[in-house]
Amino acid sequence: MSVSRRSILAGGLSAPLVARGLVTAGAGAGAGLLAARTPARAAEAAHQFSLGDSEITILTDGGLVLPASTLASNVSDEERNAFLTSHGHDAETRASALNIALVRKGDALVLIDTGAGLNFFQDAGLLADSFDAAGLDRDSVTHVVLTHGHPDHVWGVIDDFDESERFPNASYLMGAAEWDFWMNPDFLADNPEELHSFALGAQRNLGAVAEKVERVGADHAVVSGITMIETPGHTPGHMSVLIEDGGQQLLVTGDALTHPSVSFEKPDWQPTTDQNPELAAKTRRTLLDRAASDGLLLVGYHLPWPGVGRAEAKDGAWRYVAEG
Ligand SMILES: [Zn+2]
Repeated sequence: MSVSRRSILAGGLSAPLVARGLVTAGAGAGAGLLAARTPARAAEAAHQFSLGDSEITILTDGGLVLPASTLASNVSDEERNAFLTSHGHDAETRASALNIALVRKGDALVLIDTGAGLNFFQDAGLLADSFDAAGLDRDSVTHVVLTHGHPDHVWGVIDDFDESERFPNASYLMGAAEWDFWMNPDFLADNPEELHSFALGAQRNLGAVAEKVERVGADHAVVSGITMIETPGHTPGHMSVLIEDGGQQLLVTGDALTHPSVSFEKPDWQPTTDQNPELAAKTRRTLLDRAASDGLLLVGYHLPWPGVGRAEAKDGAWRYVAEG
């Protein structure tokens, strides 16, 4: 069913509505976006592990590819290329996974972000299929936590085909500052054009569930042991989600960390996808320092599938150590 839905939609879609301004800062970015293809879908659609009595499932929403130039606006092409090449990355493209965490704790089934839907990037929007492949029922999701309002996180709130809610029985939680930023009725007048398509998509998706959204502040408990914490900079009100169970801690970082080498080893590099680069870098350093000191397990939305790992202090910065 989802295959036919996808093919119907594909006929009506032109180039993906990719973040024009935010991702076209690099030379040749437009051509790169159209030519690029994400790697084949992750071999497994779901990766499961336990944290105390909580059951964590990472589901794939597919992937997306941006130009590598989006990884840093404040270093030279030569420096960026040399770093990426020496770390085994492609110097031209930045392939990102889309790893979505689902947490079962007691009676609660908490989904953190909803994926990109089918209108953002051609190889994204697979979350509903991943639920099916893992034998999970979207109707049983009780809470959807939204880390921020970017397309690859909120454009999966509603089904692009029939505009129904993908998680019809869930309540929603989002940072109040983040909600207010994207839902501003004067958004188009108040913000640069490169954000307009993002905002229109956010308003379409978030608007559809507006009565079900609880706008929250820092350190809000979704349920006992699942807490939203402020990690601003990538977007104005970006939040991460801390899960504590059995004396262990897991931090779902959203887009506070986006790349396994750059985010950890060059936290002060400024990706063009960060809306407030200085604040994002400060948040990154604080988060990584805490993660390394406390031995936090991390889930990164865009880190290589399944995006589970830890931060280790190294040479005044950090290193990503994948787990699982
Ligand atoms: Zn993202």
